[in-house]
Amino acid sequence: MISKKILKLSLKSLRDFAKSRLPDEKLLELDARDECPLEIVRAMCNPDALAIQLLFIPEEFGGMGGGAFDVYCVCEEMARIDLGIATAVLATFLGSDPIHVGALPAQKKYWMTRIAEEGLLFAYAATEPEAGSDLGALRTTAEPVRKDGRVVGYKITGNKQWISNGGVADAYTVLANTPGGPSWFIVEKGAKGLRYDEPEEKHGIRLSNTAALAFDEVFVNADRLIGGVEGQGLNQAQVVFGYTRLMVAAFGLGAGWAALDRAIPYSTKRIQAGSPLSEKQGYTHKLIVPHVARLEASRACIEETAERIDAGEGSLNTEGAIAKYMASEAGNLAADAGIQALGGYGYTHEYVVEKIKRDARITTIYEGTSEIMEMTISRDRWQLHLKTRGQHYHEQARRLEAIHALHPSVGANVAALASHALAEVMEKARVGRLTRYQHILLRLGELIAYAECAGSLSRRAALMDENKLNEKANCRFDATALAELGRIFAREAALKVAEEGLRWVAGAGGMSDAEMAAFEISLGLPAIHRAQAGLISDMDYVADVLYDRAKKPVELSA
Ligand SMILES: Cc1cc2nc3c(=O)[nH]c(=O)nc-3n(C[C@H](O)[C@H](O)[C@H](O)COP(=O)(O)OP(=O)(O)OC[C@H]3O[C@@H](n4cnc5c(N)ncnc54)[C@H](O)[C@@H]3O)c2cc1C
Repeated sequence: MISKKILKLSLKSLRDFAKSRLPDEKLLELDARDECPLEIVRAMCNPDALAIQLLFIPEEFGGMGGGAFDVYCVCEEMARIDLGIATAVLATFLGSDPIHVGALPAQKKYWMTRIAEEGLLFAYAATEPEAGSDLGALRTTAEPVRKDGRVVGYKITGNKQWISNGGVADAYTVLANTPGGPSWFIVEKGAKGLRYDEPEEKHGIRLSNTAALAFDEVFVNADRLIGGVEGQGLNQAQVVFGYTRLMVAAFGLGAGWAALDRAIPYSTKRIQAGSPLSEKQGYTHKLIVPHVARLEASRACIEETAERIDAGEGSLNTEGAIAKYMASEAGNLAADAGIQALGGYGYTHEYVVEKIKRDARITTIYEGTSEIMEMTISRDRWQLHLKTRGQHYHEQARRLEAIHALHPSVGANVAALASHALAEVMEKARVGRLTRYQHILLRLGELIAYAECAGSLSRRAALMDENKLNEKANCRFDATALAELGRIFAREAALKVAEEGLRWVAGAGGMSDAEMAAFEISLGLPAIHRAQAGLISDMDYVADVLYDRAKKPVELSA
């Protein structure tokens, strides 16, 4: 882990670098030309320039040994600058992950030291034309080459699709099928038989190079098999999912905030109907405040998960999936609202929100699509529901009620209502065997993510209230504003869980009127409806904070 001071310095260097090398005009020009600025990406990973890659390399190999929390902070900052460039850097993070978790000590030392000292750019080559969400359908093969009965190398044959840095990387981590199962290999640039296509013409992240790769009997020595044992590939990928998904979650968060941080100042200057847009409630409460609440709920989940990963609680794949799902969806919605908030100007290239919106779109697709995240979340929490005989989310709710007793303003009581309602929806789904409908299984994933993020945000607000938030945590909002955001989001989550849960359960059919009436009561709908009271004034307060017009507490004179 790196210190708060070093992290702050790294973030500042990143901002200064962006200011001098990537002003808006330059970003727009590169976006229009659909060009990856390789010299800038290289400068970011150059040990004598920004050297951002040192952050995630362990100290023993010349890096800074940053943890998941540090990586989240840097990823958010990079995404605020440009998601395409952030993706180019992410590809090296991802490409080195199988090495980080699965390589033999000598392999780790060799590659990690080279990334630190030479700033090698990596690409992570998993996806194939026929194997996207379902990596099990992998067709690329790595055929052992034997000499005197010993495996001395492998010949890799197959195709990879949509590979970030595909056309510019110095080295590739490639997933291929061996006789022992899927395994990661490292292939260096220029290897005989390796070809990459022209960069894809993309909707967004046009500053990143994305290319298809073709491997035609590309020979690698046996020491390029990561970990030295065949068949470890999917495990090695799984182990880091929690962590890698947090990076993309941070991208969604950064992109969403980048759009809002353009819309907010714009709306203070844009006069319509005699006053600035920022003073119009119908504007702020639709286009700004709800997006802030969703982004901050996602941040709470990201920060909690990052802290737990850093504390050694394991890979936390499901929590990573929740963070990625919520932050990428929230980031997309916020970026879209950014265009609306600038009206016709927002729709043109010049005001940049249009580019941010196109860029943000990728975050719900790569590193696992939103639908795959829904499935991952739902399947995992379904097991918890069964194992605890339906008590898992009731138990979560009781913990939130305990927080409410100590911190009555953070929305934990309403987050608890969401959690109780979720437990009831899941139980009804169990009794009716409704997860046989894939749509219901995936919708449950969404409701679970909302309920859990409501809990995360209430807990974060409570910690802020106690002055116990992680010292590196984002402190844009003070304890009062965070509590308001906690209440706003908890209301949305509780209503969504109860009403949409009811909708899907009822939609599957098979319930009598009496069962339906009992189900409605068990969901706690009247309490959830009553909890909406105060929503408008909480939104007013958050808008005042965002526009720096919140009333400060009156100092009492002695
Ligand atoms: C710009 C860009 C950069 C990328 N960078 C990399 C990279 O560096 N390395 C890498 O390995 N890959 C990379 N990818 C690939 C990316 O991870 C995949 O595109 C993604 O995993 C989805 O796979 P797919 O495109 O084959 O879509 P598919 O898996 O075919 O999915 C299509 C749609 O169907 C849905 N779907 C899929 N399966 C199911 C199911 N079982 N049930 C319900 N719905 C389902 C999906 O959610 C999606 O909406 C990149 C992609 C892009 C566009």
